[in-house]
Amino acid sequence: MKSAIPLWDIPSLAIQGRAERFPVRRIYCVGRNYAAHAREMGHDPDREPPFFFLKPADAIVPDGGTMPYPPATADLHHEIELVVALARGGRDVPAEHAMDLVFGYAVGLDMTRRDLQNQAKKAGRPWDMGKGFDHSAPCGPVVPKEAVGDASKGAIWLDVNGARRQVGDLSDLIWSVPETIAYLSGLVELMPGDLIFTGTPEGVGAVVRGDRLHGHVDGVGDIEVVIV
Ligand code: MN
Repeated sequence: MKSAIPLWDIPSLAIQGRAERFPVRRIYCVGRNYAAHAREMGHDPDREPPFFFLKPADAIVPDGGTMPYPPATADLHHEIELVVALARGGRDVPAEHAMDLVFGYAVGLDMTRRDLQNQAKKAGRPWDMGKGFDHSAPCGPVVPKEAVGDASKGAIWLDVNGARRQVGDLSDLIWSVPETIAYLSGLVELMPGDLIFTGTPEGVGAVVRGDRLHGHVDGVGDIEVVIV
């Protein structure tokens, strides 16, 4: 392609143990996928079908990076999440074949302008400006699935300035990783390079400039980001 404007780099993530990088195509996120978090947000986790929203691919902030405190909010929240990175795409993928699409996993933060999200909910408007803003998707390196093994259980937690804020276990996911891939692939054709943020456990809360966030998922690793 002969581009009329300067081309940009494809957003990408480091891959643990490899020199190649993982190119990021789209970022899908699951809402309310842990029962205790659904309850803290005022909902009954009755296993309603999963629902999704997106973030721009260039909202990625790498591990060890800084996240500028975003404009237009006074209530920036952390949500620690297991991230699934897809090596292959597909549509209408049965859950029993969904793991064939998975390249690996990462630890991510679904950073949220909660005040804007709450206004949008009240007005029946889209969540985009509450969820899909610049630098809203800090994400650690991708760990190949062979190195992770079983990602259906294991602790997931987030510390802010050394104090534990969120704790959960991957086994508490309402919709498992294969079920989520299967459902989402019935709504859109999944593509290589897609990321899926799988939802956050209870304990979401606000951060301010200077806060140091340290997220962890057993078997997958860590992410550290400072709000500036
Ligand atoms: Mn989330």
